[in-house]
Amino acid sequence: MAPWLFLLALALAGVGIAALAMRHALDVSDDGHADHWMEQIVGLRRPVREAPRRFPPRTHLPDQREDATCGMPENNSSAQRDLIRIEDSRVWWESEHDVSDTEDDHEFHRAMEEPMRRLIELVSAAGGTLKVQDAYRPQGIHKTLSLHREGRAVDLTCDELGLEKLAMLAWSAGFDWVYHEVPRNGGAHVHASVRADRADYFAKSR
Ligand SMILES: [Zn+2]
Repeated sequence: MAPWLFLLALALAGVGIAALAMRHALDVSDDGHADHWMEQIVGLRRPVREAPRRFPPRTHLPDQREDATCGMPENNSSAQRDLIRIEDSRVWWESEHDVSDTEDDHEFHRAMEEPMRRLIELVSAAGGTLKVQDAYRPQGIHKTLSLHREGRAVDLTCDELGLEKLAMLAWSAGFDWVYHEVPRNGGAHVHASVRADRADYFAKSR
């Protein structure tokens, strides 16, 4: 092969690869993007696990410690990097009703997004309003190794359905660890948390 022909072939191959990479990076597929988004929304309405028959107070699933299931919190710098916001008008957000502090209950670790969005769908379908009492808390009320400190845990209630039913739905929604928590000084709630390394359900849609 003549050297110039070889160089031309090489250049053309380079342009082809660059175009493919570009298409991938920009996700320029016209309808594919919308279809994928719709698939995800529909997927969120389906439970990913069968609900347990009961979810009594002071019990959790699976039947092992939270850190054995979800791992320990990392550090605040990685928490900042992984935070996303969830907005949904069907949800009651505690931070919008308590103006005495600067908390923001819309902030979550990205690994929380899929089960949170699925739980919003499941609770709505069951006729309830999901209440987010506590989400990302970089400091303050939670213990030092709490997953709330990096946005991997959420505290939830639901007046219409009650906590046992809510805990069942949280399990069906795919949280890795669900706890029907009844603190000694009151304020029973469902605490739900996730592993940090879950696949990003929404990665292609961003
Ligand atoms: Zn909690």
